[in-house]
Amino acid sequence: MSKTARGFLFVVSGPSGVGKTVLCNEIVKRYAPHVVYSISATSRAPRGGETNGQEYYFYSAAEFKKAIERDEFAEWAFVHGNYYGTPRRFLEENLEAGRHVILNIDVQGALKIRENYPDAVMVFIAPPTFAELESRIRKRNMDSEDSIKHRLENACQEMGYKDQYRYSIVNDNLPEAITELNEIFVDYIG
Ligand code: 5GP
Repeated sequence: MSKTARGFLFVVSGPSGVGKTVLCNEIVKRYAPHVVYSISATSRAPRGGETNGQEYYFYSAAEFKKAIERDEFAEWAFVHGNYYGTPRRFLEENLEAGRHVILNIDVQGALKIRENYPDAVMVFIAPPTFAELESRIRKRNMDSEDSIKHRLENACQEMGYKDQYRYSIVNDNLPEAITELNEIFVDYIG
């Protein structure tokens, strides 16, 4: 019997507020159940409207550290003062079953993934301008002023990693960015 071909792993990164989650959700909606979204674990508190197991698995910092010790993450990173990590088992089981997996993760995590999964398809989402990014984060109105400042500082650093990614998309206009991301997916998943 022939073995199922492993799925492709897509890594989507870019500064906070750039629109990664909306873009990833759109792709998953189009290609489910062949494309699945990896739900990360985090030690940050849920924002209003977020539910455990839907946007994230919400852990305490202590629970997260225990999970690191048990080697439960394919990668993890400390981002904006909180832990974030990709559950290894979900990732492996889906790739093995031939499903394509999207990771919406920060640049540190993305580089770790690339070490362990050299064929991962790396996509960077950039804002049209820094001022636009700030305005989007503020409009989202979900973060404290401290957190906003932190996210904006990190955004500058994260932009410096853009060239490490195979693809980069400027999210100036959402439908156009969706089309561009979709074209990348179609190239791989057919
Ligand atoms: P937020 O708190 O706004 O949901 O996410 C903050 C940042 O953490 C985003 O850049 C997001 O992509 C990143 N992130 C979410 N999940 C993971 C993960 O599992 N690993 C890593 N390294 N970063 C993640």
